[in-house]
Order: sequence, then structure tokens, then C-alpha cells
Amino acid sequence: MVNVKGGAFRKRPPFTSTMILMPNTNTLNALREMFGERLQTTEEILSLHSRDISWHPPSLPEAVCYPESTDEVAEILRLCHTNRTPVVPFGAGTSLEGHIIPYAGGITIDLSRMSAIKAIHPIDRDCVVQAGVRKLQLNKALQPHELFFAAGPGIDASLGGIAASGASGANAVRYGTAKENIRALEVVTAEGKIVKTGSRVKKTSAGYDLTHLMVGSEGTLGIITEVTAILHPLPGYSAVAVVSFPTVQEAMEAAVAMIRQGLPLAMLEFMDEVVMRVINNYAGTDYAEQPTLFLEIHTDEALADIYRHRLSKIITEQHGSDFQWGSSPDEKARLWEVRYNVAHAILAIRPGGNTMSTDVCVPISRLAECILQSKAELAKINHVTPLFGHVGDGNFHISPNILVKNEEEIRLFQRINEELINRILKMEGTCTGEHGIGIGKKKYLEQELGQPAIDMMRAIKKALDPYHILNPGKIFDFY
Ligand SMILES: Cc1cc2nc3c(=O)[nH]c(=O)nc-3n(C[C@H](O)[C@H](O)[C@H](O)COP(=O)(O)OP(=O)(O)OC[C@H]3O[C@@H](n4cnc5c(N)ncnc54)[C@H](O)[C@@H]3O)c2cc1C
Repeated sequence: MVNVKGGAFRKRPPFTSTMILMPNTNTLNALREMFGERLQTTEEILSLHSRDISWHPPSLPEAVCYPESTDEVAEILRLCHTNRTPVVPFGAGTSLEGHIIPYAGGITIDLSRMSAIKAIHPIDRDCVVQAGVRKLQLNKALQPHELFFAAGPGIDASLGGIAASGASGANAVRYGTAKENIRALEVVTAEGKIVKTGSRVKKTSAGYDLTHLMVGSEGTLGIITEVTAILHPLPGYSAVAVVSFPTVQEAMEAAVAMIRQGLPLAMLEFMDEVVMRVINNYAGTDYAEQPTLFLEIHTDEALADIYRHRLSKIITEQHGSDFQWGSSPDEKARLWEVRYNVAHAILAIRPGGNTMSTDVCVPISRLAECILQSKAELAKINHVTPLFGHVGDGNFHISPNILVKNEEEIRLFQRINEELINRILKMEGTCTGEHGIGIGKKKYLEQELGQPAIDMMRAIKKALDPYHILNPGKIFDFY
């Protein structure tokens, strides 16, 4: 659970729906009988499941249920389907667009007790885990096999949450996103049926690709209970580099050159001068307060010097400075610590603040132009507004610390968000590269994909969840 704060509780759902949600007393009584103390209604537990770290207002569930098996999830869903009770699946609660906030009330299903690693298959390079397994837990268990699971954020999310939000992270530039790293799922439908969506094999042409229908469905089509994940070998050699540039343009030119020259980049992260200042203030470091690239190379030791030389050449051509390089575990951890501190440093800008993080992604050829235009807009307002991101994928975040009670501030950044999305859609980009739609980006989905695509999504939703009990109001409105 992330550390969150602020915001008044919202009583009614912030989505348009003509659906009448029924009182849930019958469901609660039945669940209490089935789950005993694994059904929680204390204020503390309800509050922990009512919010994320973003600006979206919190809203309490009526109860939180902690199943321990797929059969138990199926029992809960059969009951909720019969009683038309809303259900919100909850992994680690780290999503950023109000995904897990139960605006329609009902039951939150917390999957944290489904945390068994069921099988690791080193030769096949896959594993089968329950949905509540966390990424750090899995990667620790994989270490003796010299394998790792690559997809998902640096923050310790659950495998079910990573799958359901279609997440990726810093190393997607080499290893791909949730979509490329999940082979099959076990899913419980709204009616309580248990479905296998695929198999462990590398290739299959067997029917519709249900796995990738579920990946990114944000808990609206089914509850994932088991994930079959693809694993990668740990790199033979890795090194981290940090380098500052006089301008954003030069940093972006360097990033594009690194990609075009085929450097074996496992991560390529950008932080603007505002982020570097915020980090220095937070961590007491003295990094140059200039546009900065953080990158990691995965290769063989025999090739390391060749790539380091190519990297140095690109950096010199783009007038980079303060070049740091580390290949020992301690050096790498020290260099990456700065990047992993960004979220904490932003929250520390102002006590009581929350984040409103944009998450756009553009073709890499438009990235420099897009970031420069965005920074020109940000220069017009009087607010500390960090810009950083996974630029190796063309994905970046504008992430101000905002006070949720300050309506003027909310409106200002909603406008900036909207203008940014209008801009990136003209550049053939997407409003969300990795965080997902939740409630925060609903209004942009149709603008990005068009009405026929939303109609198709609605038809799928209606077929799989006719009473609209699964995470209602998220991604798009039902009616
Ligand atoms: C500091 C910080 C940094 C982040 N960095 C990144 C990043 O680099 N890349 C990135 O992609 N994201 C990032 N995120 C967002 C977030 O971590 C990811 O979206 C993550 O995948 C969410 O996983 P979770 O387990 O916390 O899911 P939750 O937040 O619990 O849930 C996310 C969504 O999935 C649904 N869900 C959860 N579990 C299940 C399940 N078993 N079955 C069906 N639906 C389910 C929920 O209902 C919800 O809609 C970041 C967040 C924070 C706070």
C-alpha cells in the first residue's frame, strides 16, 4: 500500500450511469458468514482501500474481502453477480488514475493473500504465480535461477495489478511491457466462472487471444487469479550511466542517437532540470541541475568497453558533461537511487500535496518536439512542474505536486493535461503509455480511438459483465 493523504470522501460515483446500484446488505451478511475476519469493515482498512496517491478524490468501499484461492474469488463473484453488488479488485494499490477507488461502493477484493509462487520453469523461462505476488518477491525467488521478470514499475506492484493495468517500467525499452511478458492468465468472470486464457507454450494459434483482452482491462472484465509470466536471463554484464546536457534538445538528440546506433539499452530515462533541483533539495545531493539522462546497458563483459566508447562519443557530440559510469552493484544502486527517489521528492515539494501525473507517449521521432513544446507551455505558469520519463519508449510524465483542495490548481493542470493530450494525438501518440485510463483519462479515450472502438469495448463489457459489477465507471461509461 502506498502512502497516501488528503482529499474529501466522495459519496457518489463520478461517472454517468443510469444504472441503479442495489443495497448490499445481503452480500455483506453472506460474505461475513463465508469469510469471518477475512471480511474487514474497520475504518482503517476501508480508508486504505479508498484512495491512491493521485489527486482523485477518495471513496470508501463497504467492505474489503481477502480471498485465499481462486475458488473463493469465484464464490464472491457469484454472490455479487446475483446481488448486483459492485466489486473492485485491488492488487498493491499503486495505480495513479483512480483505478482502485470504489466510487460505486460495494466490495473491494484485496488479492494480497493470494501470494504463492506456484511454479518456476527455468528451461521454459516462465513461471506461474497467484495474482497477489509482488514483483520484488518474484524476482527474489528467481535469483537462484539467474532469471527475472521484467515488466512493471519500480514500485512494488502485484503481478495481477501489472497485468490488469497493462503496466510497463523503465526497462520496457529492451524487455517490453506487460503485454509482451504475460503468456496466460487464470481469470474469474463476473458470473464466477473460472477461465484459462492461454497456455505456457511460446506459440499458439488457438482461438481468440483472451490473455491480451484481459491485460489492461483494469479489473473491468474479470478478476485475474493466476499469471503465467515470461522470464528473462539476468544480464551477463550491466552498467549504469548518468550524464547531463546543456539543453533538452541535446539530451533528446543523444537519446535518439543511442537508440538508432543500437546500444543495448535496458533503460533510458530522462529528468529535466526541475526534477534534478527537486531531487537535490530532497536528497541533499549535488547533481547538475540540467536536463539529465540515466541509462543502463545490458551486454557481455567483453563488449562493455566498445559500448562505453560509443556512448562517450554520442555524449561528446551533444555536449554532455558530468558523465558517471558504474558497473558494481553498489555503484549501480547509488546512481539509480536518484531516479527511484523522484516520486517521494515530488510529494515532498509541498506537505499535503498529491500528484497529477500525465503519461503520454509519442513516436520517438516526435519526442524532442513534444517535450520542448510542453516545457514552453510550463514556462508560462508559476508552478514547480517536474517533467521526466521513460524516453527510450517515447513516454514521459509531467508531474506537479498539487493541493487537491485548491480548485484553481486542479483546473490549471487539467487544462495543461488536456492541451498536452491534444498535442500528442496530433503526433499520433497515446494519452497513456503505461498508467492506464482509470477515471482520470476516460474523456480522452474516445478522442484517441474513436467511437467505433469504444462501442466495441462496451459490447465486450456487456457480454462479460452484463450487470456492470466489475470496477464500475472505469475506462468508459457503461451506457
Ligand atoms: C511512484 C510510482 C511509480 C510508478 N511507476 C510506474 C511505471 O514506471 N510504469 C507503470 O506502468 N506504472 C507505474 N506506476 C503505476 C502503478 O504502479 C502500476 O499501474 C501498477 O501496475 C499497479 O499495480 P498494483 O498491483 O498496485 O495494482 P492496483 O493499483 O491495485 O490496481 C490497478 C488496476 O488493476 C486492477 N486489478 C488489480 N489486481 C487485479 C486482479 N488480480 N485482477 C483484475 N484486476 C486487478 C484494479 O482494479 C485496478 O483497476 C507507478 C506508481 C507509483 C505510485
